[in-house]
Amino acid sequence: MSFTVALVGRPNVGKSTLFNRLAGKKLALVDDTPGVTRDWRSAPARVGGLSFTVVDTAGLEDVTDDSLEARMRRQTERALERADVALFIVDARTGITPLDRHFAALLRKSKTPVILVANKAEGKVGMTGLYEAFELGLGDPLALSAEHGEGMADLVEALLPYAPPEPEAVEKAAVPAKGEGEEELPVGDQPETDEERARPIQIAIVGRPNVGKSTLLNALIGEERVLTGPEAGMTRDAISVDWEWRGRKFRLVDTAGMRRRARVDAKVEKLAVADALRVVRMAQVVLLVVDANQILDKQDLTIARTVVEEGRALVIALNKWDAVDDRAMALRQVEDKLQAALAQIKGVEVVTISALQGKKLDTLLDLILSTYGQWNRRIPTAQLNRWIEGVLDHHPPPLVEGRRVKIRYATQVKTRPPTVALFVNKPLDLPESYQRYLIAHLRETFDLPGVPVRLLLRKQK
Ligand code: GDP
Ligand code: GDP
Repeated sequence: MSFTVALVGRPNVGKSTLFNRLAGKKLALVDDTPGVTRDWRSAPARVGGLSFTVVDTAGLEDVTDDSLEARMRRQTERALERADVALFIVDARTGITPLDRHFAALLRKSKTPVILVANKAEGKVGMTGLYEAFELGLGDPLALSAEHGEGMADLVEALLPYAPPEPEAVEKAAVPAKGEGEEELPVGDQPETDEERARPIQIAIVGRPNVGKSTLLNALIGEERVLTGPEAGMTRDAISVDWEWRGRKFRLVDTAGMRRRARVDAKVEKLAVADALRVVRMAQVVLLVVDANQILDKQDLTIARTVVEEGRALVIALNKWDAVDDRAMALRQVEDKLQAALAQIKGVEVVTISALQGKKLDTLLDLILSTYGQWNRRIPTAQLNRWIEGVLDHHPPPLVEGRRVKIRYATQVKTRPPTVALFVNKPLDLPESYQRYLIAHLRETFDLPGVPVRLLLRKQK
């Protein structure tokens, strides 16, 4: 999974020079004569650990009679269509020209995010052009020297929000040694590829003592061996168990912790939350088990919130459903509690089960799969922007000192959990409460129950 960066700007600002530097090769023909005929090319680029495809729009054919503006517009529009982000390059030495302004107007209307780059700024020579560039209405210009390679670190930082999630650590052995489990678990960057499907979904079961976690574990994997001591292939310290269901692999983490808890029930009550945090960090989907005969209490809600704050997907199982007298009442109580809880966990999916009788376990696994799918969700940029437009129509951000913060654009920059970058003119003026509202609204609109959603604010004038 890569992303595409287009280089746009009038002739002679240094697009080809930057292209060559990013692509690391002497591919493009660099010429002082504006408008030298070249094809527009793309190449794989790698700088500062970022990989992307760079597209150059240089190559304004001189064969047509069209005006330079018309040709540039065509070139640029073609490039913007393909790009995730555009670098709009101006010449810091010559300063801003009418053609630059023409370009800026075009780019301001584009849905593709734009990073303004003032090139030829080596030394302090280009300061005048740099200051002028602020006037273009495309945010703060980034000073760069394509020829001398200055400012590349800033460029990488500016591009970072558009990069897809990094491929993470390589899969560990199925049964890691004790202590290793605390590390971030390997997660891929593209859901539902064959490779991804071949990987187990990491699940943790958390909840207070005696709610039925061990019983559920045994019911899920269909054998008693986990709790009955070491056997061939499983050491006492083993902390994970793998199994398959309908062709999908699941891995239950921290079963050793569960064994420990099972042995010393009463003493661990106080530790449950701290313990849960450790387990949550090892999982992708966290299954919070609660006893349907007990009211969802503060500790349960704290664990649920922790799951979401840690960026994991959450599913709640109401266990011992077989032993509930008034089921309608029990459900209503849970729903009331969840409604009253913080927005982060509002609307999380609840499934009623009986671990003891093995009831509704398929429903539970289905729910885990769908929640995992949502956690991996990639929402198209067009949909996100339609959503943000609707929100701005009906519930715009509050005025700050008589002025309204402008939200320009939204794009998802990461999955697991879904993370959306929001481009605003004054990020610091967007109140926390409004950000929470946006997150809640987004989760509702895109149907992401039990899935944390993150919002990153980026400055764009
Ligand atoms: P393009 O038409 O936008 O592709 O521009 P080129 O890459 O062909 O560059 C035009 C001219 O600007 C060439 O003479 C380059 O050597 C020069 N140039 C490009 N980048 C820089 C830079 O960072 N500093 C200076 N001083 N000159 C540069
Ligand atoms: P843990 O401490 O959360 O691992 O809980 P256990 O799995 O050890 O279960 C605690 C008690 O609840 C045991 O007596 C189980 O038999 C009982 N239990 C577990 N699941 C159910 C269930 O679905 N229905 C009923 N009626 N009892 C259950």
